[in-house]
Amino acid sequence: AYRTDEGKPWVLPVVRTVEAQMATDVTLNHEYLPVAGMPDFRLAALRLLLGEDSPAIVENRVEGVQAIGGTGAIRLCADFCKKMLGYDSMYTSSPTWGNHLGIFKSCGYSNVKQYRYWDAQNRTIDFNGMMEDLNAAPEKTVVILHGCCHNPTGVNPTEEQLKEIGDLVERKKFMLLVDEAYQGFASGNLEQDGNTVRYFVKRGFEFFVSQSFSKNFGLYNERTGNLAIICANKDAKLRVKSQMEMVVRTTWSNSPNHGARIVASVLNNPAYYAEWKEHVKTMSDRIKMMREMLFQKLKSLGTPGKWDHIIEQKGMFSFTGLNPAQVDILMKKYHIYLLKNGRINMCALTTSNMEYVANAIHAAVTE
Ligand code: PLP
Repeated sequence: AYRTDEGKPWVLPVVRTVEAQMATDVTLNHEYLPVAGMPDFRLAALRLLLGEDSPAIVENRVEGVQAIGGTGAIRLCADFCKKMLGYDSMYTSSPTWGNHLGIFKSCGYSNVKQYRYWDAQNRTIDFNGMMEDLNAAPEKTVVILHGCCHNPTGVNPTEEQLKEIGDLVERKKFMLLVDEAYQGFASGNLEQDGNTVRYFVKRGFEFFVSQSFSKNFGLYNERTGNLAIICANKDAKLRVKSQMEMVVRTTWSNSPNHGARIVASVLNNPAYYAEWKEHVKTMSDRIKMMREMLFQKLKSLGTPGKWDHIIEQKGMFSFTGLNPAQVDILMKKYHIYLLKNGRINMCALTTSNMEYVANAIHAAVTE
């Protein structure tokens, strides 16, 4: 989760403003929302993801279904593809956010696999490995890509690579699920961070996008997500929506109100929207600053190895390249906690603990 430079959770000021208004608005009540979720929220989420003038929105061939966080949106997609379309195979990157595997397994997929993604030696995408593995996947496969800020590596495909992935997805007739959990965190620019999704829309793909508002709105425990469904035409969209409502009905029946109302109130009000964009930039700038500081500090210490990846990777996480033995030293000797694979949360770094962490990494690498 995001933390301030004081190491504290951050309730975005615009979220506080809207919550204060909600608390005294006597026109609000606790009636159930429609099964597909709050209409104002779903449309605002789609506009944010695809752009105001997206052809898919203008042509009325995209639907949003509210979900219990980004996790719930992934679950809806997995369930729908299994139950309604007969998919039994899912490929996601190696490494990835672990829940991708768990969700598809618990939906009954018998072929849950990971394609090569991370080239540890060069600290970049193993693009040939990825293409080779996807080429070998069966035709009816759901393929997950991270829209931006790949978790845990912080590295996403280049434009040229994305085109090649798109060609392969098209040729093999894969079902694409783009996991968009960090829109705004990569560049601080919401439009730019939607580019992967917008590229596939431009190509006319029918696909899914799971959107999470946990990070960019700081609404972690409000479970606010949306599944964007991009179809070829309006008829297909209506059919998918009605089937998707059956999945929602038997899963959680009805989505929660609070987080969706906050997001809808902010995105549909120009002044609040402008304020929120500043908040997203504040979070993304803080992460970039921590990356820069850690990089400079390791350089000035002369820590062996190349550390450019710290500033090149995008988003909340950094795949440091530290090996399990070095991670062990950091945890046992310095009480700095990170994943065994070397992933650190950049938001855990602050101007006050930077010196300590950099010195500890230096010691672990040189020991
Ligand atoms: N997808 C990725 C890649 C994530 O990192 C996360 C959260 O950490 C999620 C999805 C789930 O988000 P949510 O908390 O909104 O369910």
